[in-house]
Formats: sequence, structure tokens, C-alpha cells
Amino acid sequence: MGRSAVVGVVALVAASVGATPPQVRFVPQPGLRISGFWAERLDKLEQSWIPPCWKRLGVRGGAFQRNLAEATMLALERHPERKELAGILERFVRDDIARQQPDGYVGHCNPRYADYGRHELYGQGYFIEAAVRHMAFAKGRDRRYFDAAIRLADHLDSVFGPPPKRTWTDGHPGVEKALLTLADAVDRWDGVGKGVRYAELARYFIRHQNDIAEYRHTYCQSHEPAVKMKEAVGHAVRGTYFYAGMAGSAWRCGDAELAEAARRVFESAVDRKGYITGGVGGQWAGEAFGPDYKLPNARAYLEGCAGCGLYDWCTEMAMLDGLDRSEDVRERVVYNNLLGTFSEDFSCYAYQNPPACANPRYPWHTLPCCVGNVPRVLEDFKNRMYAVSPDGDTLYLNHFIASTDGEVEVGGTRVRLALATDYPFDGKVALTLTAERPVAFKLRVRQPNRTESALYTAEPAVPHGYREFEVKLVAARGAPQTLAVRGTPQTLAACPHAASATIRFELPMPLQRVTCDARVKANRGLVAWQQGPIVYAWEGKDFTQRVPYYARLNHGGPSRVWMPADGMVPTAETESGDWFRNTGCPLDASNRKVISSCFLKER
Ligand SMILES: [Zn+2]
Repeated sequence: MGRSAVVGVVALVAASVGATPPQVRFVPQPGLRISGFWAERLDKLEQSWIPPCWKRLGVRGGAFQRNLAEATMLALERHPERKELAGILERFVRDDIARQQPDGYVGHCNPRYADYGRHELYGQGYFIEAAVRHMAFAKGRDRRYFDAAIRLADHLDSVFGPPPKRTWTDGHPGVEKALLTLADAVDRWDGVGKGVRYAELARYFIRHQNDIAEYRHTYCQSHEPAVKMKEAVGHAVRGTYFYAGMAGSAWRCGDAELAEAARRVFESAVDRKGYITGGVGGQWAGEAFGPDYKLPNARAYLEGCAGCGLYDWCTEMAMLDGLDRSEDVRERVVYNNLLGTFSEDFSCYAYQNPPACANPRYPWHTLPCCVGNVPRVLEDFKNRMYAVSPDGDTLYLNHFIASTDGEVEVGGTRVRLALATDYPFDGKVALTLTAERPVAFKLRVRQPNRTESALYTAEPAVPHGYREFEVKLVAARGAPQTLAVRGTPQTLAACPHAASATIRFELPMPLQRVTCDARVKANRGLVAWQQGPIVYAWEGKDFTQRVPYYARLNHGGPSRVWMPADGMVPTAETESGDWFRNTGCPLDASNRKVISSCFLKER
């Protein structure tokens, strides 16, 4: 009785609110031609990881295959000539659709929705996400999978909701953020306003996760009503997925209470529980967010999938509150925790990604949840590079992926984008903008914050925040072009044949010495090093080599990110800069003296 009364109140509140527009809109980049750092890694991922992964998982429908299918679609955007991958994808799509039951249900449970611990909605969420990705991949020309996802969502909508429909506790959240993705896609492909009921269904799941007394548990974020949450708790993959759904349904449905809760929990996850590698969920027991300031290094869990969940959560936080924080958090988790999942040749990976570790990565795991999920996110990173403001008059450059053939619509005009850079090893960036027609707009370029978590202090400090440029591209047929870009410091290069401008700037990339909040016992008296977005690990028995965290091998013994502050002694190698050539990360002369070898023995 009590429960239905509460449900009634919530339903009344729901009727009185409307959607709040997103702060930004990310612009997907299906045609982006990537070069440099990211091309090297994505090529290896696509050649050495994805095909063998299909062999191991089998080309058939299933939760883990759905993530891998998304990664495969993104790989095919880069290389449409990969016919064998296209064939695998088509076989998978057919098989996955064939698994759907006539009333839209996807899953293996009989009876359905009788046991919250059976990953029923988790698998369904991945079905929806893969289908939404497939619709975009097919540019709207192949609706088979997408329509199946709509049938599944309609089935869920027929079962769950305010009385007389059922309430439920999602034992592994995920379907919530998937329904939000579907809401956007239905709006895009079938007409604005048509997707809103899927966003409302997501919000229903989020708001009612705590309804059923016997299913209340921190493990799956059902311990208290979502609107009361203050802290990131429980299983970290479940948590990040749930919180992404919370933030996303908050802005889509105009739910201010959920928005506040999402902000509080995000702060908790980043400012009190976030690792320097961007990983979350450090507690081994329960694969969970631990207590505040408890961040063990060697026994840290930090599953790849939790990093993926944080990535999706950042996307929703950006749309809820803007890009200032989300993209710093995203960059750290992508360049360290997620790239660090794989060996550099993409033949092996690790399920757990602790900052201190002696175990080499391995080719497979009995629970292969991360094997398609992490590639899905690494391949998707290009889609977070550019964003535009809701009014369409500001272009945001968020991430620095060397590339050509970027495309956005800004100021009512199609603008093509090329970005030249050696980032993440060098901060010099040249962005060339070419417009079809004369156009004026604002360009906001992210200067990364390297201390986006309150836990860490990095020295020297670097200026951060989005820098604004006024861009005016003026085309005059047959006449010399005039162009203007205001904002400092930058230089311009004019192209005589098009309305084009190149903006050059340099992101500050000093080598930074990082210390951690003293409340984190594990890191007391220790320092870590980062340069640009890359966190370093010291590797080998004698800790003689410093490598990017993502490139650690762990073959010669332990590797660790945090090292005693007073253990650093200069060596000849350091003076010659050899290590830094090895890592592809040159140091400038002024920094070289502060980084040095460390001949500490294992403690
Ligand atoms: Zn996983």
C-alpha cells in the first residue's frame, strides 16, 4: 500500500516537468580519417583483437557479442573495405534479431523477470545499444535491428511502469542508459518527440530501482531511492551504468531531483574515489566503489567495463552540465585505464587494471565482458571530439585526435575540420576549418585540466578551461579570401582557394609531479608522474624504466604508478633522455632533471 502511494506521488511530479535541453550536442564523426597515435592503436585493435575475439565468442547473438558488434561497426566506418568483418557483422545482426521472441522479449529467462540476478535487462540494454549503433552505421537505410530494438523497448514499456504495470529492480543496470540512447535515435530517425516515452521508461527504472524491499542492496544501487543518493557505491560497472542512466534521464525528462543526485554521485566518484589512471571501482570485494579515500594500489580492481561505464556517464554529465569537467574525466580514463587494458600489440588484455601490478596481461578471461566493451569505447572516442552548442553557433573541440575529414554543422553551415598534432606526446595543435559558405561562429578549445579530481595536485600547475576564438570565414568567388580569427595566442594561415583558416595553439604539457590527498593512506609519501593525459608507471624489478601506464608489460617484474618521493636519483640514462625516446615522449630540457631513475628494491 505504502509503495503504491509513493509511486502515485512520483507519477504526479513526473507529469509536471518537461525536458531541459542538453548543454551540448556531440557530433558523431563517421567519416573521420584518423592518423597518428590513435590510428596506430585502432589499426592494431581492428586487426589483432576484433577478428580473434569473434572467433572466441562465436558469431551469434549475445550480450558480449553486442559490444563487439558495436566496435566492429566503428571499425568498418574507418575501413569499409574489410569485407570479412562486414560479413561477420551481418551474420551477427541476423542471428541476434532471430533471438527475439514474437512479443519483443530478448533473453533466456523462463519465467521472465522472476529473478533480478539474472542479467536479463543487462543483455537487453546491449541489444538496444548495438541496434541503435547499427541504424547510424547503416545511415538509416537498414532498420531491421533498430526496429527489433523498438519492439524490445515497447515490450519493456508494456511490462514495467506505474500500476497496473510492474515495478522492478534491475540486478545489472544498463538498460536505462540504452533506453536513453534509443530515445535519441527514435527522435532522430522517426521524428522529434517520438522517443520521449523510452526516456520516461528509463527514468521509471531509475526512480523505482529501490521499490522491492527484498532486492535492496548497494551492490546494484537499489539500497536507497536514486534521488537520495550522495555516494557512488556498489559494483562499479552496475554503478556507472546506473548513474549514467540517472544523469541522462534527469536532463531528458527535466527531473531536477535526479540531476542533483547525479551531480553528487559524480563528485563522489571523481573527487573521493577516483584513481589517477581514471579507473573507478577499486575495491576487490564486490568489484566495487570502496569508502572515500580508500584507494589501494596493488589490490585495486578497476575493471575495464567500469571505465566504459564512466565514459558513458561523462557523456550524460556533459549534456546535463556542460563539458568543463566531463571531458577531463573522460580523457584520463580513455588514455590510461582503458588503453591500459590492452597490451600495446592488442594481443592480450587485463580484466583488472590496478596501478601497481606484477601480472602480465592474458589473451582471454572466462567472463569476457570487457573484450568488446573496451574496444567499443576506444573506437567511439572520435565521436566525442567535436560538439556544438544547442543554438548551433559554437563549435567545441574537446579531444585532440590527429585526423582529417571531420565535419560539423555550425552557424548554419557545414564546416570541414582537420586536426594536425602529435598529441598526447606534444601539445602543438593546428586545426584547419573549411566552410562551404561564409560563416561566423565561436570556437571553444579545451585546455585540459590535469587535476580534475580534487584528490590530486599536479606541479607545475597548468592553465585550463575552454579557450574561445571568434572565427569568421569569408568566401568571395574569384577574389582573395579574407578571414579572421580572434583570440590569443594563435596564428593564422590563409588558404587562397576556400573559406579556410588554420588555428594554431599549444596546450601546456609539462611533466607534472602528482601528489595525492593525504587522506589516501596508500599514497602517503608517494608521487606519480604525468605528462599531458598520460600517467606513467615505473616498470621492472629495479624500477629502472618509466613507461606510459598503458604500455606497461609487467614482464620484468612489478610495475607501479606511485613511487617514493625521495627515491629518485639522477642517472646517466636520464641525462641522455633515452627512456623518453623509448616511450616516444620527449622531455624538454627543463624537465629532464626532475625525472630520474629509481633503483629502489621491491618493498
Ligand atoms: Zn568487464
